[in-house]
Amino acid sequence: MLIYADNAATTKMSRAAVDAMLPYMDEIYGNPSSLYAFGQKAREALEDARRRIAACLGCEPMELTFTSGGSEADTQAIRSAAALGTRKGKRHIISTAFEHHAVLHTLKKLESEGFEVTLLNVHENGLVTPEQVREAIRPDTCLVTVMYANNEIGTVQPIPEIGAVCREAGVLFHTDAVQAAGHLPIDVRAQNIDLLSLSAHKFHGPKGIGALYVRRGVLLSPLIEGGAQERGKRAGTENVPAIMGMAAALEESCAHIEENAARVSALRDRLIAGLSEIPHSVLNGGPDRRLPGNVNFCFEGVEGEALLLLLDDKGICASSGSACTSGSLDPSHVLLAIGRPHEIAHGSLRLTIHEETTESEADYLIEAVRDAVSYLRSISPVWRDLERGKMPHII
Ligand SMILES: *Cc1c(COP(=O)(O)O)cnc(C)c1O
Repeated sequence: MLIYADNAATTKMSRAAVDAMLPYMDEIYGNPSSLYAFGQKAREALEDARRRIAACLGCEPMELTFTSGGSEADTQAIRSAAALGTRKGKRHIISTAFEHHAVLHTLKKLESEGFEVTLLNVHENGLVTPEQVREAIRPDTCLVTVMYANNEIGTVQPIPEIGAVCREAGVLFHTDAVQAAGHLPIDVRAQNIDLLSLSAHKFHGPKGIGALYVRRGVLLSPLIEGGAQERGKRAGTENVPAIMGMAAALEESCAHIEENAARVSALRDRLIAGLSEIPHSVLNGGPDRRLPGNVNFCFEGVEGEALLLLLDDKGICASSGSACTSGSLDPSHVLLAIGRPHEIAHGSLRLTIHEETTESEADYLIEAVRDAVSYLRSISPVWRDLERGKMPHII
């Protein structure tokens, strides 16, 4: 048996996405930049995909640039806003302490290039407020970048309200919507978003393809130089099959977004209720304003890595911290940002379910986690000290 509960790391491609890609590998494989009709067939498909993706986001097709994924879109969005800021002598950027590393590491680089970065504190419930953004904006602020939904704890930020604050102050607003796209309704106009990143492999599309929405009138600077593809904003022959797969996956997700969200959230809440019964456990991120498929807990006296290995033995794919930091001993920066102490942050478990997860799978997950946590506690010297009162429980 295999229970895949790591959909925040990546998702299975949908049948529709696979089917949409195949003809563009061995039939309509021309270069979209070629002038002959065979190449133009690929060009037409590409532009049709752009129109369909734009329709899902509420933007114009020309406002979308295809990238190699979420990391590239984040980097390009932030670097472009920074370049625009530099021209106006504005070199201050606002973000949050729990962004994805694609954002945080780009900001670190910019700091070394003379930018000043304010990272907003995240409340224990996993949210930042529009008021925090308003208070942090200065005359030299050129960009606010706040993720739509967090990839570890699943909390969904008040994006339209933050966008409104930025609009009023005349500051560009970027959101990393990689976890939200295809799972929550997005409307860039109504939600006051100037720049938005998405990545196909988080919504049942292929890996290595994403898009950056940039509001008309905001100048995008290329990260990759070369040919004139993507109106000169992203050189390199377009990955037509992947783009076709992304369009199919996003269209399918968006067509069923409400019903999927309702069904998946109900299972998520069943998991949260079941895991909350484990003593000395705590849910990370509040129960409301949460991605439909995200469950994230800390269990006192348990090592996250050990828990993952035991679950793996039972055929369960789960995660502790983010995929990028597993393998390192640093606790998740997200859990530290919401105030979890180091000892607790090490014992975290993220389960991210998908549209086809069943009730019996959810119950199996609860049982498996419960058993693994009690086993690990039974062999833990730290847990023995906690239970004998030599050390106080933290949670
Ligand atoms: C996965 C992820 C990314 C990176 O996307 P890639 O397509 O894998 O580069 C960026 N931000 C968030 C929030 C993510 O979950």
